[in-house]
Order: sequence, then structure tokens, then C-alpha cells
Amino acid sequence: MRDTNFLTENNARHMWHPMAHPAEMRAHPPRIIAAAQGVEITDIHGKTALDGVGGLWNVNLGYSSAPVKQAIADQLEALPYYSVFRGTANAPQIELSYELAEWFREDGLTRAFFTSGGSDSVETCLRLARQYHKVNGQPERTKFFALKKGYHGTHFGGASVNGNPAFRRNYAPMLDGVFHLPAPYPYRSTLDTENPAAMARIIARQFEDDIAFQGADTIAALIVEPVLGAGGVIVPHPTLLPLLRAICDRHGILMIADEVITAFGRTGAWTGSRLWGVKPDLMATAKAITNGYFPFGAAMISDRIAQAFEANSDTRGLISHGYTYSGHPVGAAAALATLAEAKRLNLAANAAARGAELMAGLHALKSRHAVIGDVRGIGLMCALELVSDPETRTGLGKDKVQTVQDVTYDAGCMVRTSGSNIIFSPPLIITSDHVARMLAALDAGLAAVK
Ligand code: PLP
Repeated sequence: MRDTNFLTENNARHMWHPMAHPAEMRAHPPRIIAAAQGVEITDIHGKTALDGVGGLWNVNLGYSSAPVKQAIADQLEALPYYSVFRGTANAPQIELSYELAEWFREDGLTRAFFTSGGSDSVETCLRLARQYHKVNGQPERTKFFALKKGYHGTHFGGASVNGNPAFRRNYAPMLDGVFHLPAPYPYRSTLDTENPAAMARIIARQFEDDIAFQGADTIAALIVEPVLGAGGVIVPHPTLLPLLRAICDRHGILMIADEVITAFGRTGAWTGSRLWGVKPDLMATAKAITNGYFPFGAAMISDRIAQAFEANSDTRGLISHGYTYSGHPVGAAAALATLAEAKRLNLAANAAARGAELMAGLHALKSRHAVIGDVRGIGLMCALELVSDPETRTGLGKDKVQTVQDVTYDAGCMVRTSGSNIIFSPPLIITSDHVARMLAALDAGLAAVK
């Protein structure tokens, strides 16, 4: 590896980072991570810290999963690549589609379309939703609904349904015919109540009202995250998704669950849809499917949607969509090993148990740090919202949020910031001792902005 000066200097000179301003790179150079083991990362200065971020919500098994590494190495040896475009297939991809059909059977999803990541999976779901209606004889159903504060990746379709205008502003114009429902976000409610159940009812009523106004026969799908991740870990009331599902059913609108973060155990359930008792028509997955070791994803398709395509032999059913790396054999092998390990270690149960400890600890910190305005989370996806004034709920300034992150890191834990939120999404294999150490490091970080 080149020396630290070379890396820092050339990062600023030659590398543009996602979700960052190129002009920031000299003033705030990134931490350059050189190695990782278990649930700890080590930077180029030799500093080691617990990874409270889990890579980017994806390294559920931590960094030392021997079976996943071995599966990748073996597959690289046997068949490092072959396409799955019409006319060819590869064995790991077929085996994975079989395993995923088992994994998601309870969610009613039995077909897989493979992608290179979350944005691809979302894009695939949006396209398949529109195509389904064409196949089904309702080509005028093209509009999409989504939730404000939702995050659906960065392709033009996903960014168009994104519930945060910051992700669209610099790239507009986006897709036409996209509509957003209020966020189920009691701490900063835009509705007349902060009661989560009442908010769910209002959001559902708004959906019904908008459907009547737009015309149900013009609407393709609603896309929702079962727990809104990048928007600040917003956990909807348990009634919200069932209410929205029922409305979709009444009006022939498809429900797309964006489970890029929530599939594979992070919420304490194996899927976020199962957590709330809904069956989506399409589901976007990625991230933890390969434990972050290989870029990969899958759009999952319900029996009902699949049958409409499979029973139709005309050109409307032709899937003129896909990626060079769809069904990459190395990614598929990584996913097969990851799923087997996730099941063997019962990661969802550990996420629920350790998540409860982490949430209890975060609430305890709230009673001692006035800067914590809100604590939210479920399983091992948790957030603190930091405020400069608990009465007005004014968000803490960027520099202070940065200080919390820096001091927490120095004290031994990497956390992620998003606006005035501090976000935890650690590997799902963490122990109670790791939770205690993460909380102690965060305590130090919060004390620095008292
Ligand atoms: N959907 C959700 C809910 C996400 O959280 C993300 C990424 O964080 C995406 C889609 C996009 O995934 P990717 O960054 O792999 O393209």
C-alpha cells in the first residue's frame, strides 16, 4: 500500500466520492480504511474502531466470514464470469434463485431477477411494475407513489421516487407522474398530530384521496421502505403498511417493498414486509445479500406478477432490461454462502436482542445529553436525532454533528451521520459487549458538544 500522504493527496486530486462535494476533500479528507476483522475496522494510521455502520448497512456477518470468502475464491477459480442474458445461465445463479424462492416464500415472492446493487434492484422493480400493467392490458397505469423521506437509490427512476428533494435537485428534470405521501415521522410531523397510529390513518386517507384525484387506472405502484433508512431510521406505526397494502389491493396498484436495507434480518425479522405482515408484489434487495463482499442484488417477484408475464408470449412480456453483471456467478456464490451463514447464526434473532440493548442504551444517553432530541430504531437500525434546542427541535449544526462523529471514532466506534442524525447499523453478529463499547464511545462523542 502507498504511504498515507500519497493516499490523502491523491484522494483529493483524483477521486470523487458519492454523496460528497469534491471541494470538501482537502478541508475534510476521508478516513481511509485499510483493513477490517470481525466487527472492527482499521484506518491507514493504524487506528482501530468498532464498525457501528456495518460497512453501509450491509456487512451483516462482519468482515471475517470465512465461508463467504471461500465461496468467492472457489467460484473465481471455477467460473469467474458468465452472462445470464437470453441463451446462457450459470449454476450458482440458478441455485441462488431456488434458495431465494425458499427464503422469501413466506413473503409470496418466488422469482428472482438479479442486479448489481440496490439502485438497480429498485429500477428493475419500477420497470417491471409498469410492464406488468402493459402485459395485463392496462398500459395507462404508469404513475408512482412513494413516501416523503424515503430513499430509493440514485438511478433516474429511484431518484424520482426518492422522498428527499436534495437527491433530485441537481439532476432534474426527473420522471413525470411521481407523487409523495407524508413521511410517518412523528418527531417532525407535518400533520396535525404526532400520534403514530393517527399519522398512519392520515397518510392512508391522503393516499385514497390522491388516488381518487389522479385516477386509480393511471397508477402503477406504490414504493415503500418498511423502515425508512437513509431518511433517518423512521419506523412507521405497525398499521401503516397494512393500510397502504389494502388500498393498493382495492385499486389494482402494485406494492413495491424497497428492502435494500431491511431484507435479511436487520430489523429483527428476516424481511421488513414480514415484520409488518404485508406481502409486496415486488421487492428490491441488495446490500447484505452478499454481506457487502460483492456488488449484487435481486428484485424479487410475486407469483401473481410472474404468472402474468409467463402466461403471455407476445412482445409485451419481453424483459428488455438487465445488466452485464445480472446473475454474476461470483456474486451468486457469495450470496449462497451469506444466506447459509445468516440462517445458521440466526442473525435476525441476534439483531432483535442486541438492537433492544442498543435502543435501551440510547434512551439512557438521552436522559443525560440534552443534545439528543429523538431516539428511533428497530433491530439493529437505530438513529439519534441531535438538536441544538430540545424545545424548538432545531437540528444540531453540521460542525457539531461532525464533532460527535469524530470524537466517537477517536473513542473507538465509527458511526454515520446524515443531516443531524447519528445512525447505527452495525454487523448483526455483534455481542452485548460490543453494544456496551459502542455506547461508551458515543457517550464521549456527545459529551464533546455539551
Ligand atoms: N434503496 C434503499 C432503501 C437504500 O437504502 C439504498 C442504499 O442505501 C438503495 C436503494 C440504493 O442501493 P445502492 O446504493 O446499492 O445502489
